[in-house]
Amino acid sequence: MRLMKFGGTSVGDPARLANLCEIVRGALPLEPVVVVSAASKVTDMLLSAARKAAGGVVEVEAIEARVTALLQAFGVDAALVAPELAGLRAALGAIAARGEATAELTDLVASYGERISVRGVAATLSAKGVPATHHDAFDVGMVTDDNFGGAEPLPESEALLRERVTALVRAGKVPVVTGFIGRALDGRVTTLGRGGSDYSAAVVGAAVGADEIEIWTDVPGVMSSDPRVVPEAHTIPVLSFDEAAELAYFGAKVLHPKTIHPAVRRGIPVRVKNTFEPAHPGTVITAAGDREARGARAIAHKKGVAVVNVVSTRMLLAHGFLARIFEAFARHRVVVDLVSTSEVSVSCTVDRDDGLDGALTELAGIGEVSVARDRTLVCVVAAGLLDSPEVCPRIFAALGREKIAVELLSMGASAINVSMVVAGDRGDDAVRALHRELFGVRA
Ligand code: ASP
Ligand code: MG
Repeated sequence: MRLMKFGGTSVGDPARLANLCEIVRGALPLEPVVVVSAASKVTDMLLSAARKAAGGVVEVEAIEARVTALLQAFGVDAALVAPELAGLRAALGAIAARGEATAELTDLVASYGERISVRGVAATLSAKGVPATHHDAFDVGMVTDDNFGGAEPLPESEALLRERVTALVRAGKVPVVTGFIGRALDGRVTTLGRGGSDYSAAVVGAAVGADEIEIWTDVPGVMSSDPRVVPEAHTIPVLSFDEAAELAYFGAKVLHPKTIHPAVRRGIPVRVKNTFEPAHPGTVITAAGDREARGARAIAHKKGVAVVNVVSTRMLLAHGFLARIFEAFARHRVVVDLVSTSEVSVSCTVDRDDGLDGALTELAGIGEVSVARDRTLVCVVAAGLLDSPEVCPRIFAALGREKIAVELLSMGASAINVSMVVAGDRGDDAVRALHRELFGVRA
């Protein structure tokens, strides 16, 4: 079986949906299982409708208009999703009645994006002669914990999904399954968190033992850098799971970092492809990656990070100092990305403000604390820096030429990335300079 996941942009306009149909038709001999997201913008619209409903305003007109227009453009009767629209109205009504958008009701509201999407996509495929059937993921076995807004599939999903999805494929169907959503054991609808459809795809793909998980999106694979910053960025043909995880973590927008785990566990390659360029091989992510690859592979960056610096002369030779710092972050649920230490100071980057003030107050009891905001974290991912000792000097030479100061630096023992922090207004320059230095200027 072949798992094919299509994101919001691939199901969000008629031209792309037409491509989707041809892509799935072409894959029929591979026994495709399709996972889809909500059409682009629909999840955002649903979440804002949930917030408005908490203030007593139930508004579904804009969502209905978007959905109806899409289905019409696809040549599908909008009556097909009348039950979902009614369910959505009821869920928003329940929020309005409580005066509060609970996490549980918010997930229920958000779930309708994918539930509408599978119906539209399956109907369009059927109209074109592809024997597609639509399925809400919970009907084919996706059970999760009840951590609304970020639910985790439970281990029992695997056998259930395998049994039910495989039965559909054996019966000659092309199942079109919702990404993003599941159901807790007590039946309440959950979501896996924003961007969670990729994760759903990986969970379903792993369960059915797919030969490959294809993530169809609007970019031609994983790029060497963000093409909006570096126009000459190129597609990386093969990445290892570790390299891909680094890139995803450090802000490459194509793949949700969690996506990779279910695939890794089963050794299933994940391929990122562009719906508008189906013949382009995109990027394939495998356990081993490209064994031939040497040196720099990609440059990721993340804007708007803050650097927290804790200085304490008492740290000298003291044990437990780092532990106390990280406990303070942990208590306030602040996620730390990069860490760099000297004998008297610890610097780390955090990329969100939530909980940061509380953590800073606590850290002030440990040492002298300063925060530098609006920094950009730049991460050079490389295939084994120990075998490519020329990469680090080239990084610093390129930044030095541009007079860009490195404010924090980190390279782990795994030696697959060098990460650094630069001033926010030099972030793009740094990425471009590094790309030029490490990959040259390609036509
Ligand atoms: N529709 C969901 C979102 O926008 C899930 C996804 O697209 O992956 O977050
Ligand atoms: Mg997505």
